[in-house]
Amino acid sequence: MIISMRPHATREEIDHVCERIREFGYKVHSIEGEERVVIGVVGVGDVTACLESIESAPGVESAMRISAPYKFVSREFKKDDSVIKVNGLDIGGEEFVVMAGPCSVESERQIMETAEGVAAAGAQMLRGGAFKPRTSPYDFQGLELEGLKLLRKAKEATGLGIITEVMSDRDVELVAEYADCMQVGARNMQNFALLKSLGACGRPVLLKRGLSSTIKELLMSAEYIVAHGNPSVILCERGIRTFETATRNTCDIAAVPVLNELTHLPVVLDPSHATGKRSLVPALSRAGVAVGADGLIVEVHPCPEKAVSDGAQSLTLEGFRRMMSDLEAYIRLWKQTRAALTATAV
Ligand code: PEP
Ligand code: MN
Repeated sequence: MIISMRPHATREEIDHVCERIREFGYKVHSIEGEERVVIGVVGVGDVTACLESIESAPGVESAMRISAPYKFVSREFKKDDSVIKVNGLDIGGEEFVVMAGPCSVESERQIMETAEGVAAAGAQMLRGGAFKPRTSPYDFQGLELEGLKLLRKAKEATGLGIITEVMSDRDVELVAEYADCMQVGARNMQNFALLKSLGACGRPVLLKRGLSSTIKELLMSAEYIVAHGNPSVILCERGIRTFETATRNTCDIAAVPVLNELTHLPVVLDPSHATGKRSLVPALSRAGVAVGADGLIVEVHPCPEKAVSDGAQSLTLEGFRRMMSDLEAYIRLWKQTRAALTATAV
């Protein structure tokens, strides 16, 4: 159940509603927004009786039953798509947003050349890891603060918004100083301490699906961030681990429309980690546009063969430019479809 209090409901009214809910045996999880308080009700109890009682309590605007375990991120809670503002861009709206850049920030020259190249080809955001989650402790772990500073430099030069990964709750404040969007990597999708602290980071979050996570688990992780105070979450399908070895991961392309049914949050596709192979990235990107993703996050490197991480799946700058140009017609159709859907919804 979700209860929306009227704008500027008094503290007494809010406390009274919370108390009534507890009397019915439920737990209360309230989110204090700028304008209103929204109360999430979880647990087992007599829903009908509780709803009836709460609906007539003073200060309550509406109370609705939500059967999904992920309350705030469910379509049941919010019918309309959420549009997330990132550095002036609307993600989940009428623009198809492409985020591109290297797997890791390696040097000033590398990140500046990539930023300028991807911006010229039409990317709207720059990706690049300063903190890297690596399978081996002996592999390059990222430039950390130095990497964040280089990303800032690239933003100043190109105007591109920055998306970069945060791996630990200890680094949330630092990364939030430099990032326009905080990336949670696949390996951290269920790092609950991190998810909780992202609830208060004041930045949008791109949450990647875990290597072996179900769609429900992805949504529950998104719920953590929202329930802890941050409604600006973007989901990312980046491939899951299966028995297949022809690709690095198996891209669950159906996850995009499935998520569009289950949640109001935007969904982007990562064709790079989903395949692990440069040659497959353009086809998967087209598929992402076709199934209604809100954008792409793509790895690009000026010299993939020298990349310190994920070179095999990174497009060259020329490859990215070509892909963007080939995607134009698809994105045009995507925009028409999106505009038609928005018109029907109104
Ligand atoms: C990345 O974006 O470089 C990355 C490490 O992605 P994932 O968490 O999806 O493996
Ligand atoms: Mn990578």
